[in-house]
Amino acid sequence: MNTDMKDKVVVITGGSSGIGLASAAACLRDGAKVVICGRSQERLDSAAAELAGISGADNVLALTCDVLDEDAVAKLRDAVVETFGRCDALVCNAGQARSSTFQSTTDQDWRDEFELKFFSLLRPVRAFVDMLEASGAGAIVCTSAILARSPEPFLIATAANRAGQLNLMKSLSREFAPKNIRVNSVLIGLVDSGQWSRRFEAGVGPDGIQIPAGMSKEDWFVELAKSRHVPLERLGTPDEAANVILFFASSASSYITGETLEVTGGQSRNV
Ligand code: NDP
Repeated sequence: MNTDMKDKVVVITGGSSGIGLASAAACLRDGAKVVICGRSQERLDSAAAELAGISGADNVLALTCDVLDEDAVAKLRDAVVETFGRCDALVCNAGQARSSTFQSTTDQDWRDEFELKFFSLLRPVRAFVDMLEASGAGAIVCTSAILARSPEPFLIATAANRAGQLNLMKSLSREFAPKNIRVNSVLIGLVDSGQWSRRFEAGVGPDGIQIPAGMSKEDWFVELAKSRHVPLERLGTPDEAANVILFFASSASSYITGETLEVTGGQSRNV
């Protein structure tokens, strides 16, 4: 696959861990420069050190930024202008799921989840759209979830907002096509990342079911894949998600916009 990423600049929100970090590494390996952001300075420092090992620290910009903070996103954009002078692809990846059922989701939870799932897209897109247009071949990629199409009752607010994101991405793909900015989504099923490690450490899955005492993380992942009926019988790796994000961020997908691609090990049953 010819991704033609040499000297392209890719901004990845939530690039300090899991899928975002693997996507930054994939872009760097193909010759791009990357910008990553996250809230935790410690996680960012460790990610930046790892990424610098791929093609040098000059190709990596790592900044703290909460994507829900409009001023912080504007500062991130200004830093990208100052450091690299361009942005060719924006990967809106920052976030996590909220475990709750209809009964346990408060009005404030609904508002918070809407804020996270929509404004984590809207603010970075608003900040970077002019640079993406100036690129001449811009790309926006949203890391979303298979929940958008196959909701789980124990992730009710996340699933509903993920479905809304797909609708929004479709509208953006049409509005931005004349600017030659492509807009696509990656629907993740179960990918071994920071959020799954945190759940394992907390001893409880997103469905509220306790992880049996003494069970290893590997065995729990096997059980998870079984319980969610994943035909490939395992969780995906961040690299497997990153390959698809790189595809959508690059010219390898130059005639694709308004699309979604599932990275679920075959979990989804829709045709
Ligand atoms: P990780 O927890 O490993 O990574 C999440 C990243 O997002 C971190 O870098 C985190 O850094 C950052 N982040 C979270 N909130 C914010 C914020 N408000 N502003 C800036 N950065 C933020 O999880 P994943 O790699 O799994 O998650 C990547 C995306 O994929 C998420 O949107 C997630 O919901 C989605 N997804 C993942 C699935 C999976 O199975 N892994 C399934 C479906 C969807 P920090 O905390 O320091 O801010």
